[in-house]
Amino acid sequence: MTETKEQQGCPYCHEPFKNLLVEPGIAEYITLTGNIYSLTTEIANFGFTNFPLSYCPCCGRKLGDHD
Ligand SMILES: [Zn+2]
Repeated sequence: MTETKEQQGCPYCHEPFKNLLVEPGIAEYITLTGNIYSLTTEIANFGFTNFPLSYCPCCGRKLGDHD
């Protein structure tokens, strides 16, 4: 699959990952562990939740396997 220029330059799904959301007490951003992309939500006084991602929620780029 060919990536568009927008997808290649997307700051949210490339390191260093830019925050998707920052609000008082909440931050949301993409993390990469090995070959697995996850959406991490960090909540103050609660902790982290991780949700596996197949596509970038911002640019729609396919994440994970490189075919
Ligand atoms: Zn992206």
